[in-house]
Amino acid sequence: MPEIAVRMTKRNHNAFVHLLGALESQGFDLGELLITKDFNEILKARPKVVLYSFFTEEIWGPLPMEVKLLKEKGTLLIAGGYHAIAMPKHTLKLGFDIAVIGEGEEVLFQLLTKLKKTGYKITPELADIKGLAFYLNGEFVFTGFAKVEDFWRFPPYPESLRLISPIEITRGCPFGCYYCQTPYIKGFRMRHRPIDQIVKYSRRMKDMRYITPNAFAYGSPGAVLKLDKLEALLKALQPLRKEGRRLFYGTFPSEVRPEFVLPETLELLIDYADNRRLAIGAQSGDDAMLKAMHRLHKVEHVKRAVEYMVEYGFEPVVDFIVGLPNETEESQRMSIELMKWIMRKGGTVRAHYFMPLPGTPWARCKSSPLSEEMKRFLGRMAAEGRIEGSWSNQVELSRKLQRLMDEFYEEPMSHTVPVRNAC
Ligand code: SF4
Repeated sequence: MPEIAVRMTKRNHNAFVHLLGALESQGFDLGELLITKDFNEILKARPKVVLYSFFTEEIWGPLPMEVKLLKEKGTLLIAGGYHAIAMPKHTLKLGFDIAVIGEGEEVLFQLLTKLKKTGYKITPELADIKGLAFYLNGEFVFTGFAKVEDFWRFPPYPESLRLISPIEITRGCPFGCYYCQTPYIKGFRMRHRPIDQIVKYSRRMKDMRYITPNAFAYGSPGAVLKLDKLEALLKALQPLRKEGRRLFYGTFPSEVRPEFVLPETLELLIDYADNRRLAIGAQSGDDAMLKAMHRLHKVEHVKRAVEYMVEYGFEPVVDFIVGLPNETEESQRMSIELMKWIMRKGGTVRAHYFMPLPGTPWARCKSSPLSEEMKRFLGRMAAEGRIEGSWSNQVELSRKLQRLMDEFYEEPMSHTVPVRNAC
């Protein structure tokens, strides 16, 4: 029976596929693991250790019950992912024994290797591994933030398992939007997987898709366009397209920044990619709100991006956040106007309700109520199928997050500088 199980879910699938690739490339035999999305299979197998990775909102799902059932069997529970990194003490309070803090490729290999030697117990030796938080004799131990600058040293997939996911081609983001966890957990400097590796692993996909905070920033430190690098990547993928694969770039599961949507980037997509939808973040129709959330672009950039997309035959898919901290009725009206304008142009709007995510400068901010006008507008548009997004479910989730932050705020561990409170 395997001693270590990996609790895969739909939401952590991509992260675990990449981590399994990293484990295997460091010499870990994946045959030793039970890897499954079926929790009952894990329960029956009675492993000594179970690996989890989850987002904060999952703590209000089946997760606590799973933790309870496994703890009753004496299983050692390890948590990684955004919640563990941003709220390690809370993660341990949930019943996990060890939180993995930071980029997991190396720390997970070291941790599993050590645990195998020490009989799956928490021992002082764990303090030598950077990237862990745990309690030892009642004392909270944090061993530092694990960073993997050159993450491409590790393949995105394991060789010995038939698991694939969109490939993470870029890690980190320089923009630092106050509601977003990415830069504080993955760093402010963009790092990119080399083209030959992307091509090599893309062969396994029928539809080639990629994970990146801003697909048009490939090859750049982050804030500027490096058209030659972007073109080199897209060109290098063309032989795979000729073999029958489709290339989706700048759309699910990634998106692009509005300022990067230009005739020259769209022309590259027309020549080299199969998608004719492109996702951008607008977030608000009010420049003052964009400034307040540190988006570092203006409404005019969103409008320009939409105009270009329409001109070049792309369907714009535009994300908004409603209920932002200190958002006035007037700000919401400006967002409604921008949403209407985008829809008139043939674009699709995706509306999200503001969620104060731990580990971000806006973690302790309160959402703003939706004006009657905004509620009516979103309701009508959703009924007509003209607006996507899950803002209505997110209202309750946002309240839960605000309560969690009020009751259990902890200074998050960060990839770079301490995360400052910007509420
Ligand atoms: S929202 Fe996008 S651009 Fe802003 S920090 Fe996050 S990943 Fe970067």
